[in-house]
Amino acid sequence: MTTTKKVPAYAAQSATSGLASFNIMRREPGPQDVEIEILFCGICHSDLHSVRNEWSEFMATNYPIVPGHEIVGRVTKVGSAVTKFKQGDLAAVGCMVDSDGTCPQCKAGLEQFCPNMILTFNSPDKHLGGFTYGGYSGSIVVDQRFVLRVPSNLNLAGAAPLLCAGITTYSPMHHWGVTKGKKVGVVGLGGLGHMAVKFAHALGAHVVVFTTSPGKKEDALRLGADEVVVSRNADEMKKHAGSFDFILDAVSADHDINAYINLLGIDGNLTLVGAPAKPLCVSAFSLIARRRSFSGSMIGGIAETQEMLDFCGKHNITADVEVIPIQKVNEAYQRLLKSDVKYRFSIDMASLKSE
Ligand SMILES: [Zn+2]
Ligand SMILES: [Zn+2]
Repeated sequence: MTTTKKVPAYAAQSATSGLASFNIMRREPGPQDVEIEILFCGICHSDLHSVRNEWSEFMATNYPIVPGHEIVGRVTKVGSAVTKFKQGDLAAVGCMVDSDGTCPQCKAGLEQFCPNMILTFNSPDKHLGGFTYGGYSGSIVVDQRFVLRVPSNLNLAGAAPLLCAGITTYSPMHHWGVTKGKKVGVVGLGGLGHMAVKFAHALGAHVVVFTTSPGKKEDALRLGADEVVVSRNADEMKKHAGSFDFILDAVSADHDINAYINLLGIDGNLTLVGAPAKPLCVSAFSLIARRRSFSGSMIGGIAETQEMLDFCGKHNITADVEVIPIQKVNEAYQRLLKSDVKYRFSIDMASLKSE
């Protein structure tokens, strides 16, 4: 039988309850496990969707739910077979905590597409039964294969969102060959978009930000954009027609995707990382005229996530965060719905000790 210990957390008991203090059980580390004291956990939009069971068709929420998959902390204990980490090391956990390790996707380092992948929260917990609990908690125990190293120069509160917002934007840029000299567009300047701007800039691309709010122009330039286009301005949009190598679309609201596809050059690609609820209408002529492609992307594999973190260490990239205590999490969700954050909330988990 697996031995366990009680750990403080914040959980939602139903789709309408909001989050409140709750104790959960964590397993004692097995031979391959790393126990991490959680220092910071970013707030991702999918935390909010899951807490409110808004993705019930895709994956229904099991209550109580402890969300959080942008986890940074310090190793407090390691199992006997752990070689990658020792007590006192900085460590991080993203959206996944396990996979089968044997399927073609796992063998290719694409654990995010493994049919047996286990999400950090709201997935079946094979160790304790019930469902996995995420990072709005004092500690977490994870197989060393899914634990990442954190470069020591990074601000930890700002590093937490790299584990989801960071890899979600880095992976498609890597896949579609964003390098020096490429022209890259970023649609939407929120949690994902602001990371995309930082990465594209650090990779040496010419970065153009598309936004509906002219007020975001200064901030986009500060984050590393070379140009800012107000997407409602048809003349400004027209100037860029057929000129982009790659566009990352981070908008989750309904929007005209063809307006952006038409800005791609020959073989240009637009990748969607936002998740609009309604199907998008794509014009065939937008695609076939220049052999353009339209695709999606979801987080990244473990090796690629480590590569992203190392890249961030080298270029000193973190997310722009507003640090909050866990007691303000429900308020933060309200503000998230109004995009009232620059650009990600990061929960200081030390605040959990005052519960
Ligand atoms: Zn996320
Ligand atoms: Zn697999």
